[in-house]
Amino acid sequence: MNKSDELINLSMNYSAKNYNPLPVVLCRGDGIWVYDVEGKRYLDMLSSYSALNQGHCNAKIVKTVKEQVEKLTLTSRAFHNDQFGVFCKYVCEITKKDKVLLMNTGAEAVETAIKAARKWGYLQKKVKENSAEIIVCENNFHGRTTTIISFSSEEQYRFGFGPYTPGFKIIPYNDIDALKKAITSNTVGFLVEPIQGEGGVLVPDDLYLKHAADICHKENVLFMLDEIQTGLGRTGKLFAYEYEDAVPDVLILGKALGGGFYPVSAVCANNNIMDVFTPGDHGSTFGGNPMACAIGKSALEVIIEEKLADNAKQLGDYFMNQLRAINSPYVKNVRGKGLLIGVEIKKEAGKARPFCERLMAEGILAKETHDYVIRFAPPLVIRKDDIDWALSKIKKILK
Ligand SMILES: *Cc1c(COP(=O)(O)O)cnc(C)c1O
Repeated sequence: MNKSDELINLSMNYSAKNYNPLPVVLCRGDGIWVYDVEGKRYLDMLSSYSALNQGHCNAKIVKTVKEQVEKLTLTSRAFHNDQFGVFCKYVCEITKKDKVLLMNTGAEAVETAIKAARKWGYLQKKVKENSAEIIVCENNFHGRTTTIISFSSEEQYRFGFGPYTPGFKIIPYNDIDALKKAITSNTVGFLVEPIQGEGGVLVPDDLYLKHAADICHKENVLFMLDEIQTGLGRTGKLFAYEYEDAVPDVLILGKALGGGFYPVSAVCANNNIMDVFTPGDHGSTFGGNPMACAIGKSALEVIIEEKLADNAKQLGDYFMNQLRAINSPYVKNVRGKGLLIGVEIKKEAGKARPFCERLMAEGILAKETHDYVIRFAPPLVIRKDDIDWALSKIKKILK
């Protein structure tokens, strides 16, 4: 048995089986590349679901981690720390919002946004106590907590985990009329992803977000964007909503905000919303800790200084065009924005998983999403040469 098999056996024996990873055991990462315990090199085309936009072990962030880890790592919010305010200000400048509330994981930030919307509804919109409704979309992915899976339309995410949290209404994605019809006097928010990443890289029609934002503003409903996966350069803009200037009332960030080092998430909003929180209402032991703040600031600086959104736009367009030009008999559709690309396999060609296994053998790590879609989402530090190398391998498998 080689080292990989040994380590995979350990995981299989001692870990809950809530994932089905590709059979590769990684021990080192550098930029877009990762290495397995046998020393084989792979191009990471998943980037930990876009948590690694800055690439593996980004040198600038490594430096920040090393400096901060020897100074101060955790204070809790019972005390101030010297990194917190500086990072909060920077996040507000970048997102053009008055205030930020820092959490750790994406799901926690979504939970925080739900709390903010409900409380805003009761205090500002004067919705009757305990009757606030939040509208969400079919096929959504917002995380795995019991409340969030309560409004998932994915049977597997829900089965066995009830009773479910009430107060959510599910409408079809990319359907403006459905949104109009679903809004009632109790509606406090519309929570939506600019592109449904986990849903299979589903890109809505142009101006869907803009129209949704306009309706929400007209109806006094908070327009809440989950940009945990699409944000921070991934789609070719710093935030995906910038494509149509569909400015959200509540912007939810995570994943790449921690630069691949640390869980850092954030809810960003203006004072009229954020001021619903008063001391003791909500919190997190680790949220906004000095490690997280130092890393988060560095992670944002890398995205902006290295113009990673522009790179994602240019190379994403190129990559997508080249993927379409392969003209594969197995491929139904290639779609996406920037470097968030989905290749949908035709039903008759079988599921996406075997294609991912063949890609792995060729040195490309990609993961299927929703059975029939291969997602290509490399770190945004990728260069054209690397894309061409990947294309030569992908062609071999899709031809
Ligand atoms: C990953 C993701 C989440 C959940 O983030 P976690 O850090 O895994 O809790 C929420 N929303 C979207 C759009 C995501 O891609």
